[in-house]
Amino acid sequence: MDPIVYVIGGIVLLIVVVVGFVALHRPRSIEEEVARARTGATMAAPSLGSRLSKSRDALGGGLRSVFGRQLMDDEFWESLEEVLIGVDVGVAASTEIVANVRQAGPSTPDEARSLLRREVLEALAGKDRALHREGSPSVLMVVGVNGTGKTTSIAKLAKRLEDGSVSTLLGAADTFRAAADTQLRVWAERVGVDVVSGQEGADPASVAYDAYSAARARHKDVVIVDTAGRLHSKKNLMAELSKIRRVLEREAGAIGEVLLVLDATAGQNGLAQARQFADTAGVTGIVLSKLDGTAKGGVVVAIEQDLGVPVKYIGVGEGMDDLVPFEPEAFVDALLG
Ligand code: GDP
Ligand code: MG
Repeated sequence: MDPIVYVIGGIVLLIVVVVGFVALHRPRSIEEEVARARTGATMAAPSLGSRLSKSRDALGGGLRSVFGRQLMDDEFWESLEEVLIGVDVGVAASTEIVANVRQAGPSTPDEARSLLRREVLEALAGKDRALHREGSPSVLMVVGVNGTGKTTSIAKLAKRLEDGSVSTLLGAADTFRAAADTQLRVWAERVGVDVVSGQEGADPASVAYDAYSAARARHKDVVIVDTAGRLHSKKNLMAELSKIRRVLEREAGAIGEVLLVLDATAGQNGLAQARQFADTAGVTGIVLSKLDGTAKGGVVVAIEQDLGVPVKYIGVGEGMDDLVPFEPEAFVDALLG
């Protein structure tokens, strides 16, 4: 065949691949996002297990092959540890959990399996997972890297609060990106809550102040303040978050929660960044978003152990109702089946 045919064929294939890639990865508009949220909200809610099916399948497959062994020798325990590390439980926590299971002396793999459940629950036990609301209005400040899911998590949280008859107002203190305010507004309209925002480039701390004042004047129970996830430099960002926090603390007396949104699909890779936020912004709780999109669900354990901050909510989808309080028993059952 003529070589030119191969060249043309190659070019056509390349175009198809590029077009396909762009179509799949193009940024979604806010309208599309909200349309998806709308359909998500009207469908019957799938079980937590099916939401977490990626992690459940990864863990289930690994555990089946470990617990299917006849001999509970060193290899058995090493494999069990590897399975846990594989779903991002973290090396330290995996080693400890497996050591505890082993020490309890199970005589069959079945016994080991129920001890495993117990030990994972033990690792998650004793944390304060309540959403604290101090003062009226109480202040919730939400921080985290861009794209982790801050704005959507805020909308979902507002929905939860409103559903529970807790009136909520949103403050759009991410003034760094022009689209941030629009996105929050679109969501707020869907949820049916007020938003206070400033001009693009406005001082975020003064927007936070305005939002707090409006919430107090309108007798709202809660004000949730959205913040930027990226500025010209990380140092600027951290300074800005501290300033917002100081202003809100001064006005409200105390802050109910500073919630750090972490993207579960990043697994443990997000931990270094998370530590920085935790140190600077005085984070009191974690919202772990996108757990539905990852097989690394074990990262909950690693995060709590590493940061010493409890996971309070998990994001399990893009719909308005896809933020649920983190409950260790339900979570472990969803993963272990
Ligand atoms: P922000 O930059 O931190 O404010 O992040 P956004 O709230 O804009 O969210 C970024 C993207 O993550 C959006 O497309 C969201 O729909 C998506 N997202 C947020 N939370 C979840 C979740 O729990 N599951 C899934 N699948 N997607 C999510
Ligand atoms: Mg945002």
